[in-house]
Amino acid sequence: MGRSSKDKRDIYYRLAKEDGWRARSAFKLLQLNDDFDLFNGVSRVVDLCAAPGSWSQVLSRKLIEERPENKDKVKIVAVDLQAMAPLPGVTQIQGDITKISTAHEIISHFEGEEADLVISDGAPDVTGLHDIDEYIQGQLLIAALNITTHLLKNGGVFVAKIFRGKDVDILYNQLKVFFSTVTICKPRSSRNSSIESFVVCQNYSPPAGYVPTMCNPLLVDPNQFKSLEGVNRIVVPFMACGDLSGYDSDQTYPLTTSIGGKEYQTLSPIQEPINPPYQTACLLKKTNGLASSDKTEQPQSRDL
Ligand code: SAM
Repeated sequence: MGRSSKDKRDIYYRLAKEDGWRARSAFKLLQLNDDFDLFNGVSRVVDLCAAPGSWSQVLSRKLIEERPENKDKVKIVAVDLQAMAPLPGVTQIQGDITKISTAHEIISHFEGEEADLVISDGAPDVTGLHDIDEYIQGQLLIAALNITTHLLKNGGVFVAKIFRGKDVDILYNQLKVFFSTVTICKPRSSRNSSIESFVVCQNYSPPAGYVPTMCNPLLVDPNQFKSLEGVNRIVVPFMACGDLSGYDSDQTYPLTTSIGGKEYQTLSPIQEPINPPYQTACLLKKTNGLASSDKTEQPQSRDL
């Protein structure tokens, strides 16, 4: 899809470039913050699965740029498998959130203190096979919860992406073991056509005697929940968040309309990914170097 047709189809993609965000996901965190006041009194934050970095940008702007008096107090640590371009006030770790070594590296940046807030927008590469995608997403959420139990202070907040699929109540129950309040939310900038939602887990209070481990995070037996039916199966609290009179992520807005009084111009992305894993494939495709049974029939791609 060309840049201007994506601009037309996706209002948040376009607004992200206008407002200087690296990805449209920034609006999801901003809208979650509008409803849950996530950044109030926060000085140590971990952004798990952070690349290309729009959530870290939100943290940097909200906690440092808008509150320069807190500059020396605030510590933001961002972790991703992928490299990420630098951001002011953000310490980056290129690592895997399923590894204990990553937890130790994060802790080393907090000088013995625990985090007030852990956020995770983790998503695996989508296969298109919905059951598998949903399962892997669930595993990534459990991995994020797992590493969070090493990092978060009692009373702290954890926010993570969740796919609202058929077993969402199992995941919800896992989270309820550790947090007194768990809410599933759909920011307005998250497309209605997607099962993506976010869990906002407040008041971290692990069970007495719980020892953080990376091995077996499941304190609730999923089979126990699968056997529950009807009213016995938990109805998970759900809320829509963000300004409902604001932009709708599923609607198409004409490019001729100016936003905020400015005439519309197609803009370049704010930050191209650094060394993305698909770089070699793109290069091979551009140079017609991908394996093919008959190369003369392969059209040259001009829209990568
Ligand atoms: N929140 C980011 C932003 O606003 O720019 C977007 C995050 S993107 C949707 C999901 C990220 O999860 C990818 O960059 C991917 O590399 C990362 N990821 C997936 N599995 C991971 C893992 N095991 N450890 C660390 N990062 C992981």
